[in-house]
Amino acid sequence: MNKKYVFGFDYDGVLTKPEKRIPNPTIANFIASQLNQERPIAIITGRTPSWLKRDMIPLIESGVRSRKDLDFLYVSCEKATVTLTYQAGEMRENVVAGLAPPENVRNQIKLLGDASSNLFFDDSKINIVSLEIVGGTEEEVRKQKNTLQKMLAIIEKDVLAKENDFVVLDEPGIALDIQHKLVDKTNAALGFINFVRNKKILKPSFIIFGDTISDVNFAKRLWNQGNLVTLAYVGIRDLPMLPFKVIRPHVGLLHDEGTIAILKQLGYL
Ligand SMILES: [Mg+2]
Repeated sequence: MNKKYVFGFDYDGVLTKPEKRIPNPTIANFIASQLNQERPIAIITGRTPSWLKRDMIPLIESGVRSRKDLDFLYVSCEKATVTLTYQAGEMRENVVAGLAPPENVRNQIKLLGDASSNLFFDDSKINIVSLEIVGGTEEEVRKQKNTLQKMLAIIEKDVLAKENDFVVLDEPGIALDIQHKLVDKTNAALGFINFVRNKKILKPSFIIFGDTISDVNFAKRLWNQGNLVTLAYVGIRDLPMLPFKVIRPHVGLLHDEGTIAILKQLGYL
């Protein structure tokens, strides 16, 4: 019998390959199977609700036995500023107000995206403004990442020069996020802890699957709130010393393949 963890997953690079963006159906099935057992589970991402509703959510919804099992799903989008949950199988969307970048900033970033053939501006974001690489071959991606670095300098110097409440963050390799300085993915930890408590899981042992430092910080935030935490790490970079257990795939796999390998190691698949 395997340990009963409460699972939390990052999206990009954990449920997907980072440059492909398509969710892995094996992991979506696993998430649905946890929901069928009335085990709370979270997806915590910088992506928009509409992005997740396109591919990921339909995979999960089609995998559950009954819609009421979806009540155990907690989806935090746009770095904890938009939350999707279900009540009696009906989706609810909760947006944190007052954090969206000003319209002129949004418009300038959109212009930069439109002027660049290898980046795109994600128009569906509510509280974050993003420029993102479009993906493709290794060579194309390398060029796109170069363009992103040039844009980073332009945005810092020109667009945000007088916007003290807003910062631009380089999301490792895939995007630039222009966001309010209070926006922080780890804020989702508090909502998820409450969610799990409301599902009558009294001493949860969390396992957080991540591939970047923001996921590590999310796990830390759970830990700092007095929870049992394990980090399942499927990213490339080395990690700092951490006060909790870290699991990696035995065979050196990364991203969605690493996630599946760890689920197998733990006896869940
Ligand atoms: Mg990621």
